[in-house]
Amino acid sequence: MSTTSAAATRKVAAAPMTVAQVPKPGADFEIVEREIPEPSAGHVRIKVKVCGVCHSDVFTKEGTWPGVQYPRVPGHEVVGIIDKLGDSVSGWKNGQRVGVGWHGGQDNTCPSCRRGDFRNCQNLKIPGINYDGGYQQYMIAPVEALVAIPEGLTDAEAAPLLCAGITTYDALRHSGAMPGDLVAVLGIGGLGHLGIQFANKFGYKVAAVGRGSESAGLARKLGASVYIDNKLRNPAEALRKLGGAQVILATAPSSKAMSELFDGLGPNGKLMVIGANSDPLEVTPLQLIGGSRTIQGWAAGTPMDSEDTLRFAELTGVRPMIETYPLEKAGEAYARMMSGKAEFRVVLTM
Ligand SMILES: [Zn+2]
Ligand SMILES: [Zn+2]
Repeated sequence: MSTTSAAATRKVAAAPMTVAQVPKPGADFEIVEREIPEPSAGHVRIKVKVCGVCHSDVFTKEGTWPGVQYPRVPGHEVVGIIDKLGDSVSGWKNGQRVGVGWHGGQDNTCPSCRRGDFRNCQNLKIPGINYDGGYQQYMIAPVEALVAIPEGLTDAEAAPLLCAGITTYDALRHSGAMPGDLVAVLGIGGLGHLGIQFANKFGYKVAAVGRGSESAGLARKLGASVYIDNKLRNPAEALRKLGGAQVILATAPSSKAMSELFDGLGPNGKLMVIGANSDPLEVTPLQLIGGSRTIQGWAAGTPMDSEDTLRFAELTGVRPMIETYPLEKAGEAYARMMSGKAEFRVVLTM
């Protein structure tokens, strides 16, 4: 991937741009100037308008993803305008509004790609991890990562849909739940507040499972018909009383909460895991065998899946709730996201 990280400098003579970079694993963000990069063949340059701050940016910030080279510019919820086309780019034009999400480009040659399963490319490139992402005024992206943004969404509304949005939308639409089914959404945060809205618009009966009573009103406003406070009652039992969930969309990054909820699944029910953490789930074979229940993970999706997500959101009124920060306050924005107190997605504006 052609990037300019190696050329990062604090002061440049011509055409500088502002960049928020992580200088080394675990270090604070640095606001620096760099030269505006040039797109190579098969790439475009994007004048970035906004970039969402996602919990997965922690991989770059803390250096917990293998092989990240520093300094690195995080950001994989990018929306901007194509500003320059590299050679041999067709199908995209200057001035077009585009996004770049988690799926930052596939190699087209690995066994998964040869099957057309680009989502599971074994050499998947992720913006902000494998090359510089959207915490900067201009970004270079390969064409296979580009997402067209529909008119009805603002830049800041579209950005979180490119990671948090697509992940919940795509997990739900592949979960096997049918209209009218009971679907539980575990966690009412960055992912969950979108998951509840999508599940409601898909025609499911939505049970939101949260911690404490504060989220009950919001969960109902977002489209949940039931709110289960897992501080007050056993949430699995509460779901069983409702007939058992066909799907539990587990957005809260807590393996303990997921494990505790598993018995709330009905027959042939599925636990869809999208809240990432590294603790083991605790489910016995008997819990799986009784009722033929399954557990599946789901990771974002391709740029076309993002376009489906955006069109569906435009059509149905699903929108992220956001807090915005200027690029120069990337460190503050990141800390706000990490605090878990943001409501609910943090977005940087350029
Ligand atoms: Zn591949
Ligand atoms: Zn993300």
